[in-house]
Amino acid sequence: MTGEEGNKEFHLKGVRGSIIMATNNAHKLEEIRQILGDAFTVKGLSDIGCTEDIPETAGTLEGNALQKARYVHERYGVDCFADDTGLEVDALGGAPGVYTARFGAMNGYGESHDSSANIRCLLDKLKEAETRRARFRTVIALIRGDEEKRFEGIVEGEILTQPVGEGGFGYDPVFAPLEADGLAFAQMSAEAKNVISHRGRATKKLAEFLTTKSNN
Ligand code: IMP
Repeated sequence: MTGEEGNKEFHLKGVRGSIIMATNNAHKLEEIRQILGDAFTVKGLSDIGCTEDIPETAGTLEGNALQKARYVHERYGVDCFADDTGLEVDALGGAPGVYTARFGAMNGYGESHDSSANIRCLLDKLKEAETRRARFRTVIALIRGDEEKRFEGIVEGEILTQPVGEGGFGYDPVFAPLEADGLAFAQMSAEAKNVISHRGRATKKLAEFLTTKSNN
């Protein structure tokens, strides 16, 4: 069976396709649904009864995204995609990268996934830095049947010297995209952030691919 035959929902012209995103994060599902619009129904892991922690043990964003997508594809027999995101800071040699969520905890600041601890850790490490240039990079791995595809989104920016703004999550209060006239992600609307964000860009590439392929 080819990948194209494997998920017939994709290939019925004029009918909404359905695809699994390997996440239970409601914020991510909502963001991805906004970008994909009506073209696809995006379901999360709970919709296929997957409640286990999916391993993320690869040393790269690409490796982790693929690992998650393969895990779901192999165990649940569904076509799916998974993402992984990292913050790459030039003055730190590209760190925290794949360890972005755990950066604070790994350096003695709070718990894993604690955003304020992560930010404190980052600001401390950059106190003497000559450059504050950084980027967010998202990799999405898609598996459809036998086909594996990768999509990347990058937003270049600078790390601010102190947190600003109320919106967003994670490092948003200290990340100012070069394209946003000095505003931090945390000072932008979700819609404005989606237009230029790493995840928004990677997702748009995925959406273009899915839309084009499913209309062929
Ligand atoms: P994940 O791979 O999407 O879970 O992202 C890993 C970590 O990167 C998250 O725990 C956040 O700390 C950070 N991160 C990812 N995307 C963003 C964003 O859009 N703004 C701020 N931080 C982010």
